[in-house]
Amino acid sequence: MRCIACGSTDIMAKANQIVPLNVGLDGVALDGITVYECQSCQEAYDEMPPMDLLLDAVVGFIANRVDKGSDGERTSLTGPEIRFLRKRLGLSGSDFADMFEVDTTTVSKWENGKFQMDPFKQKMLLKFAKLGHRIFDDYGPDLDPENHPNGFPRVVVLPEPQPGGTTPTANKKRARG
Ligand SMILES: [Zn+2]
Repeated sequence: MRCIACGSTDIMAKANQIVPLNVGLDGVALDGITVYECQSCQEAYDEMPPMDLLLDAVVGFIANRVDKGSDGERTSLTGPEIRFLRKRLGLSGSDFADMFEVDTTTVSKWENGKFQMDPFKQKMLLKFAKLGHRIFDDYGPDLDPENHPNGFPRVVVLPEPQPGGTTPTANKKRARG
């Protein structure tokens, strides 16, 4: 393996790193990614799973979050989650409005968190998002690390960055266990 930036072959692999995901959801990241770091120029390369699988994992993560909530009670989709699921289904705002028999203004308000989507519609949306993308079980791709002895990226939420602090990066280490 050769560094694309400087040509060096002095590459160090770091397993089980956390890599933020740019999917419009605050703090959502993948845990368990192998990152290759060039020891000459510090360029870092992530070994990310295929985008399709990755987005399915996020759908599963959202479904799990809504089902379990913070204290075991079912909770609501956030606006950004609704937007993510709509895009995952490949629907425009007006397609989405048609699907739920509302107007596009209502869709914007759901996605901006100004209106709460009613629980039945939320359930339908999650169901469609899961069905639409060959989800393997109730919560999406099997993300249980015990079933993936060679490691499998897990979707996690990073704590909010502290003011003046550092943004989490691919190289940030995290204690596991
Ligand atoms: Zn390099």
